[in-house]
Amino acid sequence: MLGALFDGLFPKRCAGCGSGPWPFCAACRVQIVPLVPPRCQRCGAPARRELRSCRHCPPEPLRAARAPFLFEGPVRRAVHRLKFAGWRPVAEALGVAMAQACDLDADAITWVPLSRGRKATRGFDQASALAHAVGPKIGLVVVPLLRRAAEAGPQARRRGEERRSAMSGSFAALAVPPSRVVLVDDVLTTGATAAACAEALVRAGASEVSVLTAARAISDRESGPGGFLRSPTQDRHLYSGPGSRPGLWLTGERLSGSRSQPRAKRPT
Ligand SMILES: [Zn+2]
Ligand SMILES: [Zn+2]
Repeated sequence: MLGALFDGLFPKRCAGCGSGPWPFCAACRVQIVPLVPPRCQRCGAPARRELRSCRHCPPEPLRAARAPFLFEGPVRRAVHRLKFAGWRPVAEALGVAMAQACDLDADAITWVPLSRGRKATRGFDQASALAHAVGPKIGLVVVPLLRRAAEAGPQARRRGEERRSAMSGSFAALAVPPSRVVLVDDVLTTGATAAACAEALVRAGASEVSVLTAARAISDRESGPGGFLRSPTQDRHLYSGPGSRPGLWLTGERLSGSRSQPRAKRPT
């Protein structure tokens, strides 16, 4: 009921530009960059050939990372609308693509919790919203397993190892987790936050923790062999509609063919 109320409050306009049709208008769709094979099998980053791991891989103990889209253009704006402007239906739209990108075996889904201060300011937790959008689509139970143990300092100015050590120990498990956990967040950047969550879950008894995000931020894409996207306009796998990228679609499209059906969709 609450969902229907919010649907009424938020006129469903394009989550990318805010004016075209929901969820992404044609002009925005062609700017979306889906992350598709060939890729790094561990972290899903696009590569020139299939790789077992790559320099973009998030830190241990994260086992794998998956995301449907690169964090830029309309997807970046959509995540910002979800996060800062309270466009809650965006979680549902991105959740469909996340469910498609999730080829991970798991027993449960959880999410990276917001700090209490941020949750109070924003009123809701976007990672929780995404987790609750994805869970039913892939037939996994969504459980709160983590809490913030300490407030970390500002993340933006920290990089790499520094950021990682700053995050370590900043989460604690709320309960004994199941063996294999998928951790949901909005964007994966360095993976420092997700790795800190994985540490807490592994300490509490999980054997495998992977991370699933709506988007993946990859800086410095001018890498050598195995790298991808030499320039922003080269080698793009643009999203142009259902079927153009098997296994990836966005809600609101008329589906054709079993390859564009969501995996393990349950009857409601
Ligand atoms: Zn648009
Ligand atoms: Zn990788």
